[in-house]
Amino acid sequence: MDALNLSTGIDWKFIDQVAEESGQTPSLCYQCGNCTAGCPYTQYFDYPVSMVMRLLQTGQKDTLLSSKAIWLCATCETCTTRCPCEIDVAKIMDTLRIIARRENKVSEKDVKLFYDSFLESMKQHGRLFEMGTLMSYNLKSGHFLADAELGPKVMQKGKISFFPKNIKGRDKVAKIFTRFQEKAKKHG
Ligand code: SF4
Ligand code: SF4
Repeated sequence: MDALNLSTGIDWKFIDQVAEESGQTPSLCYQCGNCTAGCPYTQYFDYPVSMVMRLLQTGQKDTLLSSKAIWLCATCETCTTRCPCEIDVAKIMDTLRIIARRENKVSEKDVKLFYDSFLESMKQHGRLFEMGTLMSYNLKSGHFLADAELGPKVMQKGKISFFPKNIKGRDKVAKIFTRFQEKAKKHG
């Protein structure tokens, strides 16, 4: 990885924005590396999670919002539980994804499409309808046959159904989405 110049292009407002939206204090991070040591996805990240924290402390907005790391993070929260400063690092990763979406700077479009298909399914059915989510993702992403070879195996084991099973009170779940969308508009 090339050395990064952290002393130029500092966006101070961005640091405050992420702190406010995540409710965290990024300046507490002292770069111990505990979060990165436990992150199961670090080998796929362009910047390990402790470096994401450093980039945030130095206001490197463009680098962060265009990074792959914020989209490949699986929100497993290992970083959060390992941080000696009690920073909710996973929440910061989440916040960075939300801002990247809002500013239309999504580096991993397929990951975003999968999230969208997953959430749409939750909104419609109150729970995940796996077959619908996969079909929606495959259609929108253009990966029409992605994971198709797994279909017969999971069908045989009765792990996946062709028809959705809605939960009682799915309208209440849909309202959670509406409330979130209204809140997101305010941050617009
Ligand atoms: S939440 Fe994301 S960054 Fe943190 S340990 Fe898990 S995958 Fe890594
Ligand atoms: S574990 Fe906490 S203090 Fe250590 S590098 Fe990660 S965010 Fe910073």
